[in-house]
Amino acid sequence: MAVVAGNWKMNHGPEAARAFFAELDLDDVSEEHEIVVFPTDLSLGTAVAAAPTRVSIGVQNVHPEDSGAFTGATSAALAAEAGARYALVGHSERRHLFGETDEETERKVAAALRHGLTPVLCVGETLDERRAGRVEDVVLRQLDAVLETLADGGARFLLAYEPVWAIGTGETATPADASAAHATLRGRLRTRLAGANDVPILYGGSVKPDNAAELLGADEVDGVLVGGASLDAASFAQIARAVDGGGV
Ligand code: PEP
Repeated sequence: MAVVAGNWKMNHGPEAARAFFAELDLDDVSEEHEIVVFPTDLSLGTAVAAAPTRVSIGVQNVHPEDSGAFTGATSAALAAEAGARYALVGHSERRHLFGETDEETERKVAAALRHGLTPVLCVGETLDERRAGRVEDVVLRQLDAVLETLADGGARFLLAYEPVWAIGTGETATPADASAAHATLRGRLRTRLAGANDVPILYGGSVKPDNAAELLGADEVDGVLVGGASLDAASFAQIARAVDGGGV
């Protein structure tokens, strides 16, 4: 099975969310594949109500605390109550635009696990880090910061390798680059988890209908996390149709 996830970022209010799910046609996509959509918090309730049962809904971010005086934030507890099943944690935009640290990422993973949300931990290097030959260092540092929490949580989780230079830029990692980074992550998981081979590792970074099959066919790539191309129901469905032939 493979996982196809869409991150709408700060797009699609409730009306657009309703229209997206009315148009989304997954009839040709085998039921064994997992489809997840991450709408904005404002569209979460609409997405939960409008999405077909085979599509799970997640939040793009959670606050480490469960409740309290944190104006503008969403807790994992509230997201779970509103029907979310997944939580993105450590997306590169949270790390690089909002200054989220590895330590905060770990606390967010713990919060998601406390409330039964499946965390999708995002890791990835910047262009400078890649040019300096530091891909392994960076992705392992980001994974190591949360690995104990993930492993000891005993619950299911996903990883997403998203090279920062490939997000929203039209640049895509080659399938070989993606496989190499995924193999590094898988190797680290194996040192800590009996079920390491069952952890889906998604690739994200300018995935489009025309490159999805190739990326999904790469070794160790178990799915894709799609940003821009997930906003359009037809292109998201086309990417989901590309999973047959790739994935775990
Ligand atoms: C993302 O936001 O996780 C992402 C991969 O974006 P895009 O597909 O637009 O590069």
